[in-house]
Amino acid sequence: MFRTNTCGELRLADAGKGVTLAGWVQRVRKMGGMTFVDLRDRYGITQLVFNEEVDGELCARANKLGREDVVQVKGTVNERESKNKNLPTGEIEIIVEELRVLNASKTPPFTIEDNTDGGDDIRMKFRYLDLRRACVRKNLELRHKMTMEVRRYLDSKGFLEIETPMLIGSTPEGARDFVVPSRMNPGQFYALPQSPQTLKQLLMVAGMDRYFQIVKCFRDEDLRADRQPEFTQIDCEMSFVEQEDVISLFEGMAKHLFRTIRGIELTEPFPRMPWSEAMRLYGSDKPDTRFGMEFVELMDVLKGTGDFSVFNDARYIGGICAPGCASYTRKQLDQLTDFVKRSQIGAKGLVYARVQEDGSVKSSVDKFYTQEVLQQLKEAMKAAPGDLILILSGDDAMKTRKQLCELRLEMGNRLGLRDKNKFSLLWVVDFPMFEWSEEEGRLMAMHHPFTHPKDEDIPLLDTNPAAVRADAYDMVCNGVEVGGGSIRIHDPELQDKMFKILGFTEERAQEQFGFLMNAFKYGAPPHGGLAYGLDRWVSLFAGLDSIRDCIAFPKNNSGRDVMLDAPSCLDQKQLDELNLVVDIKE
Ligand code: ASP
Repeated sequence: MFRTNTCGELRLADAGKGVTLAGWVQRVRKMGGMTFVDLRDRYGITQLVFNEEVDGELCARANKLGREDVVQVKGTVNERESKNKNLPTGEIEIIVEELRVLNASKTPPFTIEDNTDGGDDIRMKFRYLDLRRACVRKNLELRHKMTMEVRRYLDSKGFLEIETPMLIGSTPEGARDFVVPSRMNPGQFYALPQSPQTLKQLLMVAGMDRYFQIVKCFRDEDLRADRQPEFTQIDCEMSFVEQEDVISLFEGMAKHLFRTIRGIELTEPFPRMPWSEAMRLYGSDKPDTRFGMEFVELMDVLKGTGDFSVFNDARYIGGICAPGCASYTRKQLDQLTDFVKRSQIGAKGLVYARVQEDGSVKSSVDKFYTQEVLQQLKEAMKAAPGDLILILSGDDAMKTRKQLCELRLEMGNRLGLRDKNKFSLLWVVDFPMFEWSEEEGRLMAMHHPFTHPKDEDIPLLDTNPAAVRADAYDMVCNGVEVGGGSIRIHDPELQDKMFKILGFTEERAQEQFGFLMNAFKYGAPPHGGLAYGLDRWVSLFAGLDSIRDCIAFPKNNSGRDVMLDAPSCLDQKQLDELNLVVDIKE
């Protein structure tokens, strides 16, 4: 037997017991004639003791142990003299009688402790060592707990877990596909699913009624902290439902997860916010509602009421009020100006106004506006003495709102309003059906082409498609989209029309989605669903800045797995078998 107990298990009540433990050497400390070794495994750390006077040879061998050696010890549980309150096993130690090195380790490239000296790159290269660190391991434990609770909840609601294939055709979630060449079908490619969207809809046609799957999805898009080329969704679909049914069931799931994972009881229904409202007040379809600082539109107050041509020419002027920030120094204001001018944000400049203690307003555009107008500004912003008003303007309302959104989040950070232990959830609803793509020069589906338009907006499909709203909903928590879905089209004619508006020719629609359109002709039930982003949920609960930290083997920002050194080139034989010729264009 390798071990009788784990390294996280023994307590004072076990004192006197003979035990066998196995694990990794975390640290060796020599103090006079005594040697202490911290032995670690997934479950914790137990202190081992060797006494030179009792067994000099054994103690000498312990002194030679290196970090991360794998060892097995036999010994007796003993009450510690100086107890360690920070360790669950801190009241005991093992007086070792036998020591066996099961496998020696090279010196690890970084310290395997919560506070490691290893930088990102080296930790990713040796991810199997990084995962030995308790703080990283905990994230995977949390992830496991979450998936178990997801299964428990959905099973209790009658959902079936069904796997769908990974080698499929293109699924339109708006990103590029990862493709896999087919050896048996020369010149043809599979696409990895961007989501199982069409397949889960087919499962509804098949009468499965309630489906879920914890499933890998693949999207070839530019990466950010909350994106990975492959990520995991809790993908769900239900038959005979309306938007309200889906929302209520998945709100229930969010509450279940908060209760079981974080011990937080969310009793109130989550607020709902129409997409247009979210854009107007927060400049984002995933507003962080942990704090206020909502936008105030200032066109009436500042356009044409002074000589400031920037505002007079603007199509949108909006401001936020940062409470208590009137004392910001010139330097702090310059930093904020630099922040909004960054290329990723792209504002041209920042106008500010301080509300003084006496109620008067001093602004960076004082010379263009009378104090009377500035007082109107103060009132519009509901600003009090000591507040700082920050204003952006532009000729594209949507773009300017997005810039103001970044500024608002930055101010939220600066003012400590984005507490990771506070959770603010809401549903964003009534999304537009389409958005205009500059790149493609056509309307694109905002969610995906299978989303049902709002019944009352269906007539607009012919006259003003850009105004059509969808039965689509996103769940947002702390400014992160944690899930989203829609009621689907189940009528082949409506689906046909949708493809047309999206610029598909009949042939292309048939070629790409003929299987679905055809299935709809055989009695498709009304259906709808949603997918939760598992990685995002776990990082939210674990308070992580990046979803990478809750994925066992993540990719870096260039989409590389630095440990496996993937992607990599294929050898000629493989290329030949796949009928592939590589021709890299500059
Ligand atoms: N397939 C959608 C997505 O990946 C989710 C859904 O509509 O259920 O975003």
